[in-house]
Amino acid sequence: MQVNIQLACTECKRRNYSTTKNKKNTTGRLEVKKYCPWDKKHTLHRETK
Ligand SMILES: [Zn+2]
Repeated sequence: MQVNIQLACTECKRRNYSTTKNKKNTTGRLEVKKYCPWDKKHTLHRETK
């Protein structure tokens, strides 16, 4: 089952990305390294509600 989530930068706390995840095979919080336009570098982005 796909659910919509938002990814927030762990450094500036801004929500830069929205994506979907599969609840069945993704347990816990999704963490992805993505480019943050505010920090101008790749940072860790974490799932938020
Ligand atoms: Zn950031």
